[in-house]
Amino acid sequence: MVNITGYKITDVLISASQINEKVSQLAREISKDYENTTPIFVTILKGGVIFLADLIRKLTIPHTIEFMAVESYQGIKSKGTIRLLYDIKNEIKGKDIIILEDILDTGLTLDYLYKHLLYREPKSIKICSLLIKDVEREIDVHVDYSGFFIPNHFVVGYGLDFNGYYRNLPHIAILKPEENE
Ligand code: 5GP
Repeated sequence: MVNITGYKITDVLISASQINEKVSQLAREISKDYENTTPIFVTILKGGVIFLADLIRKLTIPHTIEFMAVESYQGIKSKGTIRLLYDIKNEIKGKDIIILEDILDTGLTLDYLYKHLLYREPKSIKICSLLIKDVEREIDVHVDYSGFFIPNHFVVGYGLDFNGYYRNLPHIAILKPEENE
């Protein structure tokens, strides 16, 4: 593959078939838990779109989808703040919400989204994250549907990017800086 970023893919952490199996399992669980209701799946652009596209095609329940976009800033001293770039336009009051996230790292993004959506008085909010990084989190986020627990590496693929690249990889891989040989 042409190296466009100065970084290289080292190990494949999770294969395409492992992802497919896990997404099927999550879709079965969610379809069972929500068989008497019509949930709204909320996905954060852009990383979550591939996960969303695969998961909803495996669901057996009626549902709708919505998108949100956020930007996170990491100040020199601050722990980071989130700015909302795009919000859900439709009413969510009284509705069951499932937030679909690609990866949980510090927890800042999901904590922000959860609180932001809660303010709009949905009936319920649950969180489904495909990847959960094994790190000490100062922000405690409860994940209701978990995919894979992964070590603390920077990963790409299956929607996750580095500078916009690698989202198309069918697997999850570790990305590291290229060393001068
Ligand atoms: P958090 O707010 O939990 O620290 O991070 C959530 C967001 O940070 C994710 O939605 C993702 O955009 C980005 N992120 C965190 N860890 C990784 C990673 O290992 N790889 C990539 N590509 N993005 C990550």
